[in-house]
Amino acid sequence: MIFPAALSQLTRAVAIVLCCALLPSTLHAEEEVVVYSARNEQLIKPLFDAYETASGVRVRFLTDKEGPLLARLKAEGVNTPADLLLTVDAGNLWQAARSGLLQPVDSTLLQERIPDHLRDPDNLWVGLSVRARTVVYNPDRVDPAELSTYAALADPQWRGRLCLRTSNKVYNQSLVAMLIAEQGEQEAERIVRGWVENLATPPFADDTAALKAVAAGQCDLTLVNTYYLGRLLKEDPALPLKIFWPNQGMEDSGVHVNISGGGITRHAKHPEAARRLLEWLASDEAQAAFAGENLEYPANPGVAVAPLVASWGEFRQSPLNVAFAGAHQAAAVKLMDRAGYR
Ligand code: FE
Repeated sequence: MIFPAALSQLTRAVAIVLCCALLPSTLHAEEEVVVYSARNEQLIKPLFDAYETASGVRVRFLTDKEGPLLARLKAEGVNTPADLLLTVDAGNLWQAARSGLLQPVDSTLLQERIPDHLRDPDNLWVGLSVRARTVVYNPDRVDPAELSTYAALADPQWRGRLCLRTSNKVYNQSLVAMLIAEQGEQEAERIVRGWVENLATPPFADDTAALKAVAAGQCDLTLVNTYYLGRLLKEDPALPLKIFWPNQGMEDSGVHVNISGGGITRHAKHPEAARRLLEWLASDEAQAAFAGENLEYPANPGVAVAPLVASWGEFRQSPLNVAFAGAHQAAAVKLMDRAGYR
């Protein structure tokens, strides 16, 4: 039997234990952040290590492919440990937002560091690197004076000269979605039908295979993300592959760009820590490494590009918000199917 005095002592002891068990963990709760990343470990680990050193905040992360990560976030629901989602392509980020997996981030720093067109209009995600999807041609077979716009690649002069990656990759779905946003669905379909008529070979499984076909003379040019060219040129700088920046005329819309980026999860346990990590990833300090490691362009326009990337010259990018890549994705997929783009 416990007497009242002993009971009050016990209550006090329990209270002390509770206090001291809870307090440190409450403090710790803001001292870590959990990231689900479709960007690979080789890219993010050095950055997270640097952030841990700079901030004292522990970064725990899980890397996987886009699909499984999103499925996991959905399945975990309110119980997810994830605070931040990192992935590639505005089409994917838009889908994550659409599925209710993200929450808005209110951050002046992000607004200052990342241009409007690379951020979700509702602040559900933000771009952290820019990937330009542009023309790469074989200089033995193409005079760059022949090149002008994405649309002009539908002209009969390119019959039997074009290589493309398949239409089932989100990169091409986003490219066509942005064409729809720029030119309307009818004109976008005319262009895509022209590309398909101009194909030299069936579409390739990835950008690298399309580039190798151009280098081998199977076709004259292709449309790829520039970092794939960068990887090939690092292995063999003598490859006959050159970049052309389309849509640079006064009336033209600029080069098609997409992003890799991130958003705070809907059920984040450490949303403030997630916001601070996003802000840091957008900072001058982190941007050069975040973009440079994969030969992409920094989303923060104040940051210099890697030397190989700089050698490709400057270009004007499309100012259209990359959210259109998501908003028109379903229409783009249907359009490519109608146009016979496999
Ligand atoms: Fe890629």
